[in-house]
Amino acid sequence: MPDSQNLTEAPRPEAAGVAKAGAARPAPVGAEANSPAVEFRNIDIAYGKFVAVRDFSLSIRKGSFVTLLGPSGCGKTTILRSIAGLVDISGGQIMIGGRRVDDVPIYKRNIGLVFQSYALFPHKTVFDNVAFGLKYRNVPKPEIKRRVGKALDMVRLPGSEKKLPSQLSGGQQQRIALARAIVFEPQVLLLDEPLSALDANMREEMRVEIKKIQKETGITAIFVTHDQEEALSMSDRIVVMNAGSAEQIGTPEEVYERPATAFVADFLGKANMLAGMVSGSGQATSVVLASGQTINVACPRTLAQGSKVTVVVRPQKLSVGEAASANRLSGRVVSASYLGGSAIYEVDIGTKANIRANAPISGRVLREGEAIDLGFDPEGCVLLDGDGRRIS
Ligand code: ATP
Repeated sequence: MPDSQNLTEAPRPEAAGVAKAGAARPAPVGAEANSPAVEFRNIDIAYGKFVAVRDFSLSIRKGSFVTLLGPSGCGKTTILRSIAGLVDISGGQIMIGGRRVDDVPIYKRNIGLVFQSYALFPHKTVFDNVAFGLKYRNVPKPEIKRRVGKALDMVRLPGSEKKLPSQLSGGQQQRIALARAIVFEPQVLLLDEPLSALDANMREEMRVEIKKIQKETGITAIFVTHDQEEALSMSDRIVVMNAGSAEQIGTPEEVYERPATAFVADFLGKANMLAGMVSGSGQATSVVLASGQTINVACPRTLAQGSKVTVVVRPQKLSVGEAASANRLSGRVVSASYLGGSAIYEVDIGTKANIRANAPISGRVLREGEAIDLGFDPEGCVLLDGDGRRIS
């Protein structure tokens, strides 16, 4: 996350969803009521000469939870910030609720923000932190009290109004930041790596919590993370980003099971990538690997014999032992890790890279150097062409 943009500094009025009094969200009318919550139309964003986001398009349904996932520096935060008006786009259009907002300043966009750092006002009580955006909008006092109470109930911190942020744990502070972002019922909730400052247990708890609150409120949420587990477990749709562009947009199942490119396959779950050559194309495509072993992959297209391809197989799709799978790869165990009900094997099958299997244990865990048979079905893998694009 770029420091130069002060995303980690606390506190900022925009983090409290500040909009000037009277600058309430535009009411959806006519066709706008059915418009996507947020739409990017071919946007470009540049920092000086450096183009951080290129020709990015995405339509986000109202009430959905969409995650921008990708490695550090791929442009996730930049896109998120463009929705709030914190960075300017240099091309294309951004629509919120069907209205173009390219020229709408931040204080007029009705957007809730939650950052990695909690960005709470340290000397204000929980009540004043959560109430901040409401006071700014001149909401009457009794209504502020009611709404703050409701928001604190939602984040499961009722009765914490009088506490100071320093009296709360990291997870609790992040809940307050969430309460502050949803208390004024924003059109869109932007979450920029909100869990990364928390420890592993708290992260898991907050994942469930955020998702639950998003569902209950029906708010449209856009979440940024580089953590694939977070993305897979929380999202309705995932946008896998690479170097400023969307590589693939789909449901968690789609991007995991049917990666569109080698980048997506590798970034999401560390797939086995087996390079080979087409040796026959019929109902299934036969691929001969560098080791000389042949495997069959379900593919609706006829491929020219000799073309270079990559077979992508997830470690979880490989079975160990005598299971009746159509494809069988024989090799030797390089390492084995016992995980309770399953084991992770690294296996040398005579190809350049070892392959990884994560399979339930039947019998005993095999030891280093032992022979191993790995099985998988032709439907359990994906075929990429020479340019790393999916063809099956
Ligand atoms: P991270 O997960 O590390 O936060 P990200 O995917 O959110 O990364 P961005 O913060 O959007 O990535 O940055 C995208 C690219 O733009 C990076 O190469 C970054 O160095 C660059 N960048 C971001 N902000 C600025 C800035 N203010 N000036 C110049 N370059 C910037």
